[in-house]
Amino acid sequence: MSADESEEEFSLYAHEQAVIRQAEAMLERLDEVAEGVRQLARAYQDGYHESRRLVRISDRMQLDLHDANRTLSLQTRELNALNATLVKEIERREQLEQELRRIASVDELTGLHTRRHLLELGEHELKRMARHRRGLSVLLLDLDHFKRVNDVHGHVAGDRVLEHFGTLFRSALREDDVPGRFGGEEFMAVLPEIRLEAAAEVAERLRARVAEAETQWKGERLRVTVSIGVAEVAVDEPLERAIARADRALYVAKRNGRDRVELAETELPGASGQDVPDA
Ligand code: GH3
Ligand code: MG
Ligand code: MG
Repeated sequence: MSADESEEEFSLYAHEQAVIRQAEAMLERLDEVAEGVRQLARAYQDGYHESRRLVRISDRMQLDLHDANRTLSLQTRELNALNATLVKEIERREQLEQELRRIASVDELTGLHTRRHLLELGEHELKRMARHRRGLSVLLLDLDHFKRVNDVHGHVAGDRVLEHFGTLFRSALREDDVPGRFGGEEFMAVLPEIRLEAAAEVAERLRARVAEAETQWKGERLRVTVSIGVAEVAVDEPLERAIARADRALYVAKRNGRDRVELAETELPGASGQDVPDA
């Protein structure tokens, strides 16, 4: 073998080796590409699963929202119904309260003020009187022998007489006067801006009217008379003291034969604090 031949043989070998290395390098690159494709496929698959998962979550969220919406509108309806019931209940209570106030202040049989309400109004008039000093009087009235009306004609007849008396009583007074039923067959009136003499005239007019009046009852004409005590409230005198004085005058009217008006002795200045009768 010549030197040239051996040289040629060597370069051929080197060429082969180079080709083999190139092929190996290419295979390595191919492996890398395949790995890249695999990773891509995996990523794609993951993405697909993820988006499916997201779609499922969003579907479930929509269902939940739908449910929540339904629950909310149900609750709204229930709340509205509850609200309407509450409004009705409040109205009912207000009516009841109003009715209770009316019962407490208006006497059912005669339509006059009740004792409690009359005293409240009387205190109010007393304060006004203290400001204006124009006088304030009270009348205390008691029907005479009223028990007999009940005994002879019955309790219902007695009620009719009381009712009728209430009408006469009110019509004998002015708009500003405050008439009330003190209890049973006893009545009282507060007369603002009226002095003793004028109050006595009012009482006398009423007494005369009652004595003339008749209450129709089952074809019969029932008659009653009334005794009246009159007192003028003195300056700085508590209302209850003036009422007590009118009550004593009423007692005198009874003792002097009934169907009468008697005036209370005037309260002496500075006499407050003595001789308060039992209420
Ligand atoms: P006097 O002249 O002394 O006042 O005699 P009187 O019979 O009126 O007095 P008395 O206090 O003994 O009797 C009052 C009567 O009034 C007794 C009671 O049954 C009756 N009475 C009280 N309230 C009512 C009522 O609301 N209706 C009826 N029908 N009677 C009543
Ligand atoms: Mg009486
Ligand atoms: Mg009586």
